[in-house]
Amino acid sequence: MATIIDGKAYAARLRAEIGLQVRTLREQHFVTPGLAVILVGEDPASQIYVRNKANQAREAQMSSFEYRLAYGVPEEQLLELIERLNQDPAVHGILVQLPLPPQVDPERVINAIRPDKDIDGFHPLNVGALATGGKGIVPCTPLGCLMLLKHHLGDLSGLHALVLGRSNIVGKPMASLLLKENCTVTIAHSRTRDLQAECQRADILVAAVGQPRLVAGHWIKPGATVIDVGINRIEEAGKALLVGDVDFDLARDVAGAITPVPGGVGPMTIACLLLNTLEAACRQNGIAFPGNIMQAAWGSVEGS
Ligand code: NDP
Repeated sequence: MATIIDGKAYAARLRAEIGLQVRTLREQHFVTPGLAVILVGEDPASQIYVRNKANQAREAQMSSFEYRLAYGVPEEQLLELIERLNQDPAVHGILVQLPLPPQVDPERVINAIRPDKDIDGFHPLNVGALATGGKGIVPCTPLGCLMLLKHHLGDLSGLHALVLGRSNIVGKPMASLLLKENCTVTIAHSRTRDLQAECQRADILVAAVGQPRLVAGHWIKPGATVIDVGINRIEEAGKALLVGDVDFDLARDVAGAITPVPGGVGPMTIACLLLNTLEAACRQNGIAFPGNIMQAAWGSVEGS
């Protein structure tokens, strides 16, 4: 039976450590990390995400600024707000909740965020830094997945990793991070010919496709570590359920370790958002970032 990787518990410890670092930053350097979250429209799932992010930022003793714009807001108005936040010294991280309405070009919006305040790590400068092994801001979800993997497996060197999904938000940056950790990386997607065979070769399987229970138990290499990024809302036997991209009940009999949904990657994503905001606040004020923060939170984890 697989070990269950309790992302919720890891994230709680990471947030607690971030809270301590935020207090030190304020007491020793008079800097309070500030996170600005912009929500356009009233998408119910996005509203929940934004509320969670703002609440957890406040719990970590950060300043939290929320901006709610109407669904029909002209793109120009959103860009003006971003520019204002770019200039605001109390704001160290800016997050625009996706998806955006059709009149707004997400690329223009992402490009308008100052790269050192782009705590989602989506700006081309940060994407480029990750791809070339430079120092930039790493997208939160893949960063959280990597932390869980490193904590569970230690050195990832030489392991065969399969990243299922090639989005800019999860799949591609995840593959870059695993490559940086010296994994042999395969990226699979909807045009991959034999997905099952690709999965069966993987020591590490990261599933980020948005297809409920796509990865069957027998697709998994015995003993593999499975990170399930998927969040799928389904209805089963008249009940609303949240399930991942992996068939958890069958996979846990085969895998060595697996993250559950919910309670796996999701909480780590928000904790990493706070981590990126803390790091951004340090950098913008010329303060050394406490590089051992993961170690302080979890013991044996190396810094990413
Ligand atoms: P996207 O829709 O942007 O990308 C999905 C990827 O999966 C694409 O590369 C697509 O291939 C591939 N894909 C889709 N169907 C199949 C299939 N049947 N076989 C093989 N590949 C397939 O999704 P995201 O990356 O944004 O998100 C993926 C999942 O992760 C979603 O469930 C999302 O809700 C969740 N998520 C969870 C987060 C968390 O914090 N836990 C954060 C972000 C996302 P192709 O490119 O060929 O179309």
